[in-house]
Amino acid sequence: MSGSQSHVIIVAGAGPAGMAVASSLSKAGHEIIILNRDIRFGGLAEYGIFPSKLKLRGGLKKQYWELLQQKNVHYFGNVSIGHGKDLTVEDVRGLGASAVVFTIGAQGTKAIGVEGDSAQGVFHAKDVVYHYNRLPGFGDRPFEMGKHVSVIGAGDVMVDIAHWLIRYKKVERVTAIVRRGPVERKYNPKEIRSICANMDLEGIRNEFERIKDRMAKVGQNPDDVLKGFTDEFIKCEPQVSQTKMGFRFLASPKRILVDEHNRVRGLEMEDNRLDPKGEDTVAVGLKQYYEFPCDAVVFAVGDKVDETVGLPYKNGMFITNPNKTGNDPDDSLFQAYDETVGKIMDGVFLAGWARKASEGLVGVAKRDGDWCAEVVERYLTSKSVGGDARAVLDQLHSLLRKRQSRPVDVNGLRALEVAERSFTDKTDCIGEFKFTANQDMLARIEQGRAS
Ligand SMILES: Cc1cc2nc3c(=O)[nH]c(=O)nc-3n(C[C@H](O)[C@H](O)[C@H](O)COP(=O)(O)OP(=O)(O)OC[C@H]3O[C@@H](n4cnc5c(N)ncnc54)[C@H](O)[C@@H]3O)c2cc1C
Repeated sequence: MSGSQSHVIIVAGAGPAGMAVASSLSKAGHEIIILNRDIRFGGLAEYGIFPSKLKLRGGLKKQYWELLQQKNVHYFGNVSIGHGKDLTVEDVRGLGASAVVFTIGAQGTKAIGVEGDSAQGVFHAKDVVYHYNRLPGFGDRPFEMGKHVSVIGAGDVMVDIAHWLIRYKKVERVTAIVRRGPVERKYNPKEIRSICANMDLEGIRNEFERIKDRMAKVGQNPDDVLKGFTDEFIKCEPQVSQTKMGFRFLASPKRILVDEHNRVRGLEMEDNRLDPKGEDTVAVGLKQYYEFPCDAVVFAVGDKVDETVGLPYKNGMFITNPNKTGNDPDDSLFQAYDETVGKIMDGVFLAGWARKASEGLVGVAKRDGDWCAEVVERYLTSKSVGGDARAVLDQLHSLLRKRQSRPVDVNGLRALEVAERSFTDKTDCIGEFKFTANQDMLARIEQGRAS
């Protein structure tokens, strides 16, 4: 603990980064108040990670439950921060805590910026992922995919979306649309195991044939690359559908083509070449266009933070302190910074995907949270007075009452878990039952409390 002082720390966001901050600082003896938009904790560990990754999800859930049982950890689910939400950033700062850490993830969607992107059948990957993981607001919405789906991207999220389309939607064909070539693929080879049983090997060989000259021009040997690419199709998960999975390389979507009902009928694609750039390559459009038929398009190209929250924002990111000062110059990386006045926001910190959108896996977000907790600890040593948890909690409760908010505490979460377990006969494709509307969850929580 900093000196012998116990401080009150507010952590906004209960994903892997927020839970890491809360865990470290609670172990150090501070009082932690967690404010979380979702009723459930876990963030993308609950609503992002693929449903069949039971071991990973279960392990994280267990750790997070343990944290929330601690006496000095106070959970407030169903509390959103932002303009017009339960609390504004200023409200949270005004509660009297010694520090506030924002770990609210990257909730904004990158503008796709191609003509026709509002057509029916165009989706953002995060929305699809929220849908199949049953996040309220997304779980019940229809996601009509048709027969042939183009997924734009070459990372792990593209693989997850393809996995869902193959395993649950059982569409006829999925094509990953990749701006550069196979060498520049970004997914983890282990992840491809979830979909490699469905690979259209002949289609992939034809695709390599189509782009081989362009690969050779930057010194890539198409035969070797094809071997390396397909050698990763090992330990494939058992095939559960006839879906064919393929790739379209060196291709950039320029326009979404629609039918008379504004439904996707294809993509206007531009062919790319590769140019060397140092050790790497860049894609350069060849101004050769063609139509690529498909029924739906999912953009899996990363996320940005939510600029409407009310934290200083620029270019898809919340702004952190550009000036390396203080005991440890790297502390600046976690300090929120108000450019309009050229000063750090005293006592306000950022961690996880809120600090660096779409950066890394759970382990990376956790490490970021741990690191941020150290930065906060150093900051607290500069504070002569600790905090009064009761006073902060009273003020928070009274503000939430005034706003007619319905926060959910750890007992409420337990009641929800009991209620959902009673629906074991109604487990859906994700292998468990989850209410998909906040009202339903809140009603069950209240019933559980009353009984
Ligand atoms: C599709 C997908 C699949 C993934 N699969 C894996 C995988 O298999 N393995 C792996 O290790 N990693 C995986 N990841 C990465 C992992 O999910 C992230 O690294 C991690 O969740 C980021 O943690 P975070 O705490 O920064 O943000 P998040 O997990 O996004 O948590 C943010 C939290 O903030 C809350 N929040 C948001 N806005 C507000 C607000 N305005 N006010 C209050 N609270 C708010 C949310 O309710 C949420 O609880 C995947 C990511 C995605 C997108």
